[in-house]
Amino acid sequence: MKMISSDLITYPIVETFHSIQGEGAWMGVSAFFIRLAGCDVHCSWCDQKESWTVKPYPLRTVEELAKLAKQSNPLIVVITGGEPLIHNLDPLTDKLRRLGLRVHLETSGTHPFSGSFDWVTFSPKPLSLPNESIYSQTNELKIVIASELDLQWGQQEAKKVSSGTIKYLQPEWNSHESKQLIYDFILQCSDWRISVQIHKFLDFR
Ligand code: SF4
Repeated sequence: MKMISSDLITYPIVETFHSIQGEGAWMGVSAFFIRLAGCDVHCSWCDQKESWTVKPYPLRTVEELAKLAKQSNPLIVVITGGEPLIHNLDPLTDKLRRLGLRVHLETSGTHPFSGSFDWVTFSPKPLSLPNESIYSQTNELKIVIASELDLQWGQQEAKKVSSGTIKYLQPEWNSHESKQLIYDFILQCSDWRISVQIHKFLDFR
C-alpha cells in the first residue's frame, strides 16, 4: 500500500493569522496563529463558538500551513482552536519544528496528547474532565474564573501539574464578580497570577 507523505495530511482550519500573543507568559510577542476546527467541550462563555464544528471549514495540508507560518517569520506559532487535541498533531508540529519554528499549544486537555511543543498552555474546563496525559506536558495553567466554584476547581487541577508550572486565573470577560474573586484570591495566594487578554483591550486579534 502506498504511504501518504505527512506533508499532505490535512486539518480543518477556521483561520490562520499573524498577530501578537495577547495573554499568558508569552503575552506581547509576534505570533502566527493556526486555529483548528472542532471542539466537543462547549463552554457556555466560549468566544469561539464558530469553531465547534469541523464541517464548514477548508482542509489545509501540513505543507500549506507550514509555508504560511514560515513566511510570517513569527517568534512563536500558536496552535489553538476549537480543541486542537481532537486531531493528531504529530504531523503538523513535526513539520513546523523541522522548519526551526517555536511551536506552542493552547488546549483544554480533554483528548489524548499528541504533537511536540515548546510550550503548552492548559486551560481545563470543569464540565469536561481533562485526559491524564496533559498534566506532565503543561508549562502554563490557565483557569477561567466565573464563580467561586471555578477557584476551587482550579486549585485541584494545580495539584496535578508539575511544580514549575506558571498558574494563571483569568476573569470571564467583562464580569466584575470574577475580577473581584481573582483580586481577593491572589492577595491570599501569591503563587497565582492574573491573566488578562490584552488583544481585547487594545482591539487587535
Ligand atoms: S474548550 Fe475552548 S473552544 Fe472549546 S468551547 Fe471551551 S473555550 Fe470554546
